[in-house]
Amino acid sequence: MHNRDISRIGSPTQKDYERTQQYTKSLHELLKPIVYFDMDGVLVDFKGAFEEAFRRDPQLKATYQDNPDEIPGIFRDASPVKGAVEAVKRLHDQDAYDLYIASTSPWDNPEALTDKLHWIKHHFGDIFYKRVFFTHHKNLLVGDYLVDDRTERGADQFSGTLLPFGINPDTGHVNKYPDWEALESQLNQVTM
Ligand SMILES: [Mg+2]
Repeated sequence: MHNRDISRIGSPTQKDYERTQQYTKSLHELLKPIVYFDMDGVLVDFKGAFEEAFRRDPQLKATYQDNPDEIPGIFRDASPVKGAVEAVKRLHDQDAYDLYIASTSPWDNPEALTDKLHWIKHHFGDIFYKRVFFTHHKNLLVGDYLVDDRTERGADQFSGTLLPFGINPDTGHVNKYPDWEALESQLNQVTM
């Protein structure tokens, strides 16, 4: 038997209260569903970026038409998808989900890794601090939801639920959640 001061039973101390708070907080963290956001076509308007680059420089178009993700510096200055930054910030403030980024960085454009990380920090500050996965195998990620515009790179084999977003660039198909308004509404419904 532990040697307890039974006079304390029924009258929790400040320390007990703090411990309970800490426990509740840890439990909340454990139970929060994990959401991964793809970058291109979900957070980043990649199509807009390379179309604009091609418009400005026809030579660039001749060289990179079939592989626009290899245009030097293309990821650094791309604009966000409409509503993406504001919606992610709201989701972060609501604290109902554990938010991560899961992006494929082109193998033959190594600067893209740096540019993508720079982009994330520039638009989201610390929201995704040490919460970024660069992978060609999204099927190996553990989590509840993956928001992606494509089914490639293992997205269709993701262990949780794929939330198809925007327009699938491989098929031209408009996905179930065409914009951030639709996606945010869905994510808010799930946690209510
Ligand atoms: Mg994408």
